[in-house]
Amino acid sequence: MVIETNSLSQLLLVLSEATILFLVLFLLFIVCIAGVVLLSIKHDKFYFPRLMRAGFKFMDGVVRSVCKFAGVEDNKLTVFFIRLHNSMSESDFANTDFKDRAIFLPHCLRSSQCPANLTPEGLFCKHCGKCELDHTIDELEGMGYKVFIVPGSTFINRMVKKYLPRAIIGVGCIREVKDGLEFADKIGVIVMGVINKTDGCVETLADLQELMSIAMLRSPHT
Ligand code: SF4
Repeated sequence: MVIETNSLSQLLLVLSEATILFLVLFLLFIVCIAGVVLLSIKHDKFYFPRLMRAGFKFMDGVVRSVCKFAGVEDNKLTVFFIRLHNSMSESDFANTDFKDRAIFLPHCLRSSQCPANLTPEGLFCKHCGKCELDHTIDELEGMGYKVFIVPGSTFINRMVKKYLPRAIIGVGCIREVKDGLEFADKIGVIVMGVINKTDGCVETLADLQELMSIAMLRSPHT
């Protein structure tokens, strides 16, 4: 009986030591990832991109908390994550044919007097000239893109299922773009994000320069 009690306490001791060791290693790992993120932000570079991406994917909340503790605000971190994601997807995106790409534009980019009607596939631009989407959509469609103006993320989901693009560009505010990147990752679609220049629900401004430079990415071999 005494031997059994001794074995049990030894087992508990080993288990508690293993738990403490695991927690210490986990904490060290988090600190390492947060350190790499902070250094990357400071030097405007992407050190160990795969490690950082895994950190954001599996331990987003904890990494954010540590970075926040170090003085990096949440939005700045999200913008960094989007830039990191774009840089890692760039070559796959460039290698995808234009005909296999789609662009999702948020409806808030339209003029408040937009005459476009809502359809099951989003809003169809009537090219009235009241907003910048007019010539932008023309240009993108001319390149071979399927372009959607969407009032919400459910449209994106449906259009991706219907048209099966291999690569997409998501335009929107910081939160929308981040959610869009995570959604596309989950369903295995190559994705690039473009953050709007202004936030809000009406007549927002897209970063058209960034949008077009991403849209024009193509492999040097094609
Ligand atoms: S150009 Fe198109 S999207 Fe812009 S306001 Fe006119 S119809 Fe709407």
